[in-house]
Amino acid sequence: MKKILALALVLALVFSMTACGSKKADKSAAAEKSTYVVATNPDFAPFEFIDEETQQPTGFDMDLIKAIAEDQGFTVEIQQMGFDAICGAVQNGVVDIGASGMSITPERQETVLFSDPYIEAGLSISVRDDDTTITSAEDLAGKVCAVQIGTTGAAKAQELFDAGILKEVKVLDKVDVVYQELKTKGADCVINDTPVTKAYISNAGGVKIVGDELVADSYGFAVAKDNTALAEKINKGLANLKANGKYDELIAKYF
Ligand code: GLN
Repeated sequence: MKKILALALVLALVFSMTACGSKKADKSAAAEKSTYVVATNPDFAPFEFIDEETQQPTGFDMDLIKAIAEDQGFTVEIQQMGFDAICGAVQNGVVDIGASGMSITPERQETVLFSDPYIEAGLSISVRDDDTTITSAEDLAGKVCAVQIGTTGAAKAQELFDAGILKEVKVLDKVDVVYQELKTKGADCVINDTPVTKAYISNAGGVKIVGDELVADSYGFAVAKDNTALAEKINKGLANLKANGKYDELIAKYF
């Protein structure tokens, strides 16, 4: 009986090893796919948001990754998910590319591979229009800050909380909900990416940016760590679009 059990264990082990092996083979084959699945959280205008007419994700990142795909001879299929799920989905091969205003950070680089940076975007503090108590980062002591889950803004707020500066950090699901919390006085400030804060201000209003940018980030497209072939295609496409003026057209369209 013991022998049979031992044999079954060995067989199971061998089987699982080959399963891992074949998974690897699939992944490198992924580099040659003609359609790649792109994950995005379309709640981050002007980078990704839902087009009112088509009800499909649109925005700078969407146009850019589609233009890169066209340049490099592949197509993309957009899949929506929560921002905090994207890195994991890329890492596990559930999707091929993360395109979601994702800042290149050392922590994320442990799990995914980033393309070359495609835009700079720092973090800003914003407050209600009529607030005169917070004019810079120096005034954050004892304040409540609302942030979007899984973001660099959330990490920054957590850092300020850990340093004993912020009184509380409210981690919420979506950018709109974050600003709603600010406007209804559930929070005193928001830490969010500057271009998205600016877009919110011009679309919805009621909020202003105070002080200097907290950090200067760059966004990259994320792919699985071993998918260097796909990262190279994205980098080549990006370089071509920068050279042929298409990248500048998209900048002019969205910013
Ligand atoms: N750039 C920020 C980050 O990477 C926010 C991204 C987002 O909310 N889509 O964390």
